Amino acid sequence: MKVLVLNCGSSSLKYQLIDMNNESVLCKGLVERIGIEGSILKHEKDGLEGKYIVEQPMKDHKDAINHVLTAVIHPEVGAVKEMKEIDAVGHRIVHGGEKFASSALLTDEVINVINECVELAPLHNPANLMGVEACKAILPDVPQVGVFDTAFHQTMPQKSFLYGLPYELYTKYGVRRYGFHGTSHMYVSERAAEMIGKPIEELKIITCHLGNGASISAVDSGKCIDTSMGLTPLEGLIMGTRCGDIDPAIVPFIMKKKGLDIDGIDKLMNKQSGVYGMTGISSDFRDIEDAAKDGNELAKVALEAYAHKVKKYIGAYTSIMNGVDAIVFTAGLGENGISMREMICKDMDFFGVKLSSEKNNVRGKETVISSDDSRVKVLLIPTNEELMIARDTLKLAK
Ligand code: ADP
Repeated sequence: MKVLVLNCGSSSLKYQLIDMNNESVLCKGLVERIGIEGSILKHEKDGLEGKYIVEQPMKDHKDAINHVLTAVIHPEVGAVKEMKEIDAVGHRIVHGGEKFASSALLTDEVINVINECVELAPLHNPANLMGVEACKAILPDVPQVGVFDTAFHQTMPQKSFLYGLPYELYTKYGVRRYGFHGTSHMYVSERAAEMIGKPIEELKIITCHLGNGASISAVDSGKCIDTSMGLTPLEGLIMGTRCGDIDPAIVPFIMKKKGLDIDGIDKLMNKQSGVYGMTGISSDFRDIEDAAKDGNELAKVALEAYAHKVKKYIGAYTSIMNGVDAIVFTAGLGENGISMREMICKDMDFFGVKLSSEKNNVRGKETVISSDDSRVKVLLIPTNEELMIARDTLKLAK
């Protein structure tokens, strides 16, 4: 069976065609600037990287998906002969609210429920749904499955997900912590158990997804019991451009001081903060690390503050699980940030964490990076959200 995995943003779209017989990626690509001038599709297939680029106006997601399908069945750069060979489509859906604790076949009824969650993710869910509608129109007979970023975190108990706010804000408006990156946290925690060679039901795992957006989860016996992102992906760790946890009183204070309206403060916290806002340099950790090496003090402090926050969450999650067997690093910075991993794991021998400098000198490869005498295993596991989406899609489409 071949599954097309789609991750639709408001003006971009990532795709992979996966052969589920051996879980290999047949081809993949990225469309950018959908609905704006300069639309571009970059398609990759093993051995043909960068060889197939389409620069044509794409007015909406349907246009873009039509171009994707043309590439996928292209006689030279494509991976299948005809569209019929695509057996199912798996869509990443950011917010499933409390309605979805697992993936779902995208029937009209399910799509209506996802529409109800738009309020909770006004930037993401509409874009995800545009991809679903476009695929339904172009591939009407192919099963479509939705895989939710929030689903894995639905096992959190009330004591983890309720805010210290009036209870009616939860019952009336759904104000609670939901968590995101669930597909990634689930994938790496399952892989960690396989690498350790124990059933996941016997393990306490802390998963650190450190990308542009970053979150950390406590996974006890395979179930998420707490995670750092909340109602939206703004809560928790310091990120590339997002502030993470702050004193909520800062919001009215800065709005008054700077004369900002709701959109203004939202933009400040989501787009102008994080390590970018702290340093004024960049949201990319490579740039911050370079600046720190050149002696930029703000860059050094931003990296220290970032590591400090991750450390605090590791301590908190070790405490709520009454122990930890493994800590996993994943996503862009987690997989590549050698010095960041070192800063985070430094001085944690009290917790039984000992990183091996030698083993930690590695990027983007599934491996153990703790020393042999470390009681807690520290693992580097490249995430694979697309494969997780394809697996669920296969299960439900069958
Ligand atoms: P996204 O959340 O957009 O999927 P990624 O998981 O791809 O993000 O992570 C992107 C981030 O990873 C970049 O902003 C960059 O800061 C970080 N990163 C990537 N490669 C490296 C590297 N070699 N060293 C340090 N940080 C890196």
